[in-house]
Amino acid sequence: METDVNSIDRVLPSKGKKREWVYAKKPSGNFYNLRQWVGYGLLLFLFGAPFLKIGGNPFLMFNIIERKFSIFGNIFFPQDLHIFVFGMLIILVGIVLFTAIFGRVWCGWTCPQTIFMELVFRRIEYWIEGDWTQQKKLNSGPNTDSRAIKKLLKHTIFLIISFFIANIFLAYIIGIDELFKVISDPIDQHTTGFIAIIIFTLLFYFVFAFVREIVCTTICPYGRFQGVLLDDQSLTVAYNEKRGEPRGKQRKDDDTPKGDCIDCGLCVHVCPTGIDIRNGIQLECVNCTACVDACDTVMDKIGKPKRLIGFYSLGQVEGKKDFKKSKTRHYIYAVVLVILTVGFVFMIFNRSLIGGSLLRATGSTYQMRDDGTVSNLYNLELLNKSGKDISFEIEPQSDNFKIQLVNSISNLEKDGAAKMSFFIIGNPKDVKKYKTDIKVLIKSDNKVIETLKTTFISPPGA
Ligand code: SF4
Ligand code: SF4
Repeated sequence: METDVNSIDRVLPSKGKKREWVYAKKPSGNFYNLRQWVGYGLLLFLFGAPFLKIGGNPFLMFNIIERKFSIFGNIFFPQDLHIFVFGMLIILVGIVLFTAIFGRVWCGWTCPQTIFMELVFRRIEYWIEGDWTQQKKLNSGPNTDSRAIKKLLKHTIFLIISFFIANIFLAYIIGIDELFKVISDPIDQHTTGFIAIIIFTLLFYFVFAFVREIVCTTICPYGRFQGVLLDDQSLTVAYNEKRGEPRGKQRKDDDTPKGDCIDCGLCVHVCPTGIDIRNGIQLECVNCTACVDACDTVMDKIGKPKRLIGFYSLGQVEGKKDFKKSKTRHYIYAVVLVILTVGFVFMIFNRSLIGGSLLRATGSTYQMRDDGTVSNLYNLELLNKSGKDISFEIEPQSDNFKIQLVNSISNLEKDGAAKMSFFIIGNPKDVKKYKTDIKVLIKSDNKVIETLKTTFISPPGA
């Protein structure tokens, strides 16, 4: 994939150069209408999901502080790391497959950064400061009262929206119930939560008011990986050079045949990353299709077929006559994705409701008892992952052993943990070697919900 150096200079100034602010013309057209539906639907989901609960658990929660995650109402703890890693792998392979087929459509259509920037913050800017030429005039004009009021209004609204986004962002981390406590309780009871909201608010405000398209063109690693993920079959927004060139308006006194591009510059003016798609496929293009809409309008006006700029495969754009028709890479990704998904579903449905660790007490050995039996002391840690309160009991799997509790615990609260100690008692006559593998069953409602392995030590056959 070729990268146009001038376009990089426009969005990411090289040393000594000032950043050129991108004034994007207000987009309109069929793709933009569709993009708005998709974008507002996703915003609804983004703002609504923290309020959803399944079985009393958050629909989605990523509590990295307490290392507790809720995905579709299933609670995951660090003990479920393998399932979590599988989930992450599914997302990763899904993105790779999606990118290989549809190019960077994720960036322009579904990424929260683009949705907030283009469908929320930029729209407010259009509403207050006008379209791109008026914004340009306002910024280069004198410091008038009207300009100060517009700027104050815009930045106040930006801050308020950033505050809401910060709250929702925090709700995904600590859950909506905790967030309500942070908001409603006295500040000194939730200083960390309060500081987090302030920091996130300022961060979002800074990103959407100032950093803007640089997130997509420079900061986001996904954009940087495009070259590796795309192949000849991948669809991308591109300019049909063969049809468009030589560009320019056909003058009456000029016999030189012209292409379909009349060089109106509309596709450049609407571009939110400030590039000219006619210079070839560029890393900065987020496939938002604003230029497709703009150019289609022009083609309609001059009576030429649409899609001078449109979705083309990389092979088509680069004019490769023999570009690979094979979709082998896509099939391989799809098969890997299916295998991972099946594995993930299997693990979710076979996940233990209780996480446990059973260890013989550190430094202890066996104890001979007066009645001739032998005992070992164990420490047991249990974690309730079921999302509800659980009553349980423990018993050895083999009838040759008995359990004597040191501290008796038989209930685990939802998401609660418990530590207990107990002796396992056996008859040395039943033990054939010094160290015997044994299993301890955790039962609830007479059903085994977890089986823990450990070893029992005893002088054999004593
Ligand atoms: S909008 Fe279309 S016609 Fe106008 S400059 Fe861009 S490619 Fe050419
Ligand atoms: S070149 Fe077109 S599709 Fe790419 S970012 Fe600019 S307007 Fe969007």
